[in-house]
This record gives sequence, C-alpha cells and structure tokens, in this order.
Amino acid sequence: YYILALETSCDETSVAVVRGGREVLSNVVSSQIDTHRQFGGVVPEIASRKHVEVMTIIVEEALSQAGVSLTDIDAIAVTQGPGLVGALLVGVVAAKSLAMALELPLIGTHHIAGHIYANALVGDIEYPALALVVSGGHTEIVLLESEGKFRILGRTRDDAVGEAYDKVARALQFPYPGGPYVDKLAQSAEDEIVLPRSWLEPDSYDFSFSGLKSAVLAEINRSRMKGESPDFSALARGFQQSVIDVVTTKAMRAAAAFSARQVLLCGGVAANRGLRERLAALCEEASLPLLIPPHKLCTDNAAMIAAAADLKWRRGEFSSLDLKAEPVFSLEDWSVQG
Ligand code: ATP
Ligand code: MG
Ligand code: FE
Repeated sequence: YYILALETSCDETSVAVVRGGREVLSNVVSSQIDTHRQFGGVVPEIASRKHVEVMTIIVEEALSQAGVSLTDIDAIAVTQGPGLVGALLVGVVAAKSLAMALELPLIGTHHIAGHIYANALVGDIEYPALALVVSGGHTEIVLLESEGKFRILGRTRDDAVGEAYDKVARALQFPYPGGPYVDKLAQSAEDEIVLPRSWLEPDSYDFSFSGLKSAVLAEINRSRMKGESPDFSALARGFQQSVIDVVTTKAMRAAAAFSARQVLLCGGVAANRGLRERLAALCEEASLPLLIPPHKLCTDNAAMIAAAADLKWRRGEFSSLDLKAEPVFSLEDWSVQG
C-alpha cells in the first residue's frame, strides 16, 4: 500500500510517498527559509501563502519521483497539528480535497508523532522506547509504552532547545536559523565559559532554557561593559555543553526509570553533532540501542508524517472529512486506540 503524506506545519512544504509504511519512495521538501531569513524568523502569513503557491507542484513532484500516480495511492495523511494555523490549513484543505476526490481514507497526523516515528524509517522500534524530541518548537521526553501509545514525561517550561539555539545564535551574530552555526563554533572552540545547568526539581523531566539563554546574553554584556570583545566560541561551547548535559542526563534517567529497551532521538536539533555523540556514548554505556534518523528525516518532512500515519492505517483508525487543523494538539490524545 502507498500513503501520500502532506506536511505544512511551519515553513517547509513537503509531500512524500511511502510504501508499506517503511519504504520512502519520495520525500520532496520545499523550504521557505530564504524568504523568512530576512525577517529573522518565520512570518506566518507569508508561510501560508508560500504553501499555497507550491503545494500542487510538490504533490506532482512527489508522485513523479516515486513513479506512481494518484490512482495508486491508498491513503492520504496530513499534519493536523501542532503548528501555525494558517500553514496547517493549507495542508489540511489539500489533503481533504485529495481524499474526497479519490475516495480515499484520510489520516490526520500529529507533527511530533511524525518526528518520533521518523525512527521507524531507519530501524525497528523496541518497546517500551524513550524518545528525546528536540526541535525548533518542542523539547520533550516521551515514553512509548507500546506502538503508537505516547506518554509525555517532561517538556520545556519556556524555550524549546532549537529556539534557544536560534536566540543565542542571534546574539552571536549568526543568521537565522543559527543552531547549526552555534554547533559548529562550539565544536571548534578551544575554551569554554561554563554556564549554569537548569536541572529544576530533582525528579523532574521538565526543561528550562530561558535562564541559560539569559546567561549567554549577560556574559556578552559584561565583556562589552569592560570594553572587551566577548569570546563567542567559548560561549557557544558553554551553551552547547549545558544543553547537552541536561537533555541527555534527563533522557537517560527516564530511560532507566521506565525500563526502556531503546532510545530514540528526533527533531531538527538531532542534527547537533555534540548531542548525537554524547547520547550515543551514554546509550552504549547503558547497553541501550539508540536510533537517530538521518538529517533529512530529522527536520520537517512528509515521510515522517507517513510513518506516523501508518500506525493508524494498520489499525483502520481514519479521520473524517471534517478534520480540522489543530494549532495546539495533544500528542497523548493522538495515541492509537487499538
Ligand atoms: P517543531 O517540530 O517543534 O514544530 P520545527 O519543525 O520548526 O519545530 P525543526 O525543523 O525540527 O523545528 O528544527 C529546526 C531547529 O533545529 C532550528 O531551531 C535550528 O536552529 C535547529 N538546529 C538545526 N541544526 C542544528 C544543530 N546542528 N545544532 C543545534 N540546533 C540545530
Ligand atoms: Mg522548519
Ligand atoms: Fe518539526
């Protein structure tokens, strides 16, 4: 069977064709980042308009790259939320039209379930599994008790990791989105300015990154007041080390507490080299298998949406045609029924 999936939750228009829930036949991603960069962040109205402009072309491109036609498709999956409401609507309307015209089942899909199930495209998930979700808008520790059953153990109380990276990157004068630049600078730094770690309550799996971000800004100001130029690379390193320490320590503690048989890393920040290396080392120490999707499946893409939708396809849990875009959408509520 073939699932055609659409993803438009933020600033990437993506369409994929996935066979049997696992085999990615095409995964076309059209990024708007060059448009938004000049504004230093994603402008919602522009994002919606761009999705409308390219949607038809991207659907055609995904079908042609996969070597299939619309009549071969068995189900239409779409990101229902969370995300920017206007952006989500473009995907939802397109998916509903396709499902109606082709008389195919429609599967409204949770964006973060997509990020997590990108891992199903690279290996077999063993349950219970512990997922560390680190993206531009989310930082969560999620327990997968069994296939498709999500339980959020902890989440950020303020900034998401990617958001913190982008804000620090801006202070270090990098263009948006600056996460990858901070990563590179941190990797090559010779010194480290040690910054605080925000552990919160001893047993908490929650996160907070706004204090760390403020600590970076305060260091920069302190140097400037003294008439010195701030050591950007030592700051990048200090920031990165603090983030990695906290997220990996909490993820490993959760994995042990809930007897996880596997750890999954996902979301755009999973591209971070320091994070991947540290988590890999900790998992090896704990003899826990670790899955990390390749970069293209970590950032927003529609193949991951097809992978998550497959959970519902195999159980016949379909959405009705009055499916609505859900800018705020609970992952736990999206869990499979059966
Ligand atoms: P969400 O999925 O929560 O809605 P999003 O889809 O916008 O958010 P992603 O595309 O998953 O986010 O990730 C983008 C984020 O990842 C950006 O904040 C970017 O700076 C960050 N990022 C990308 N590469 C790296 C890296 N190497 N190190 C740190 N951060 C990175
Ligand atoms: Mg994006
Ligand atoms: Fe995302």
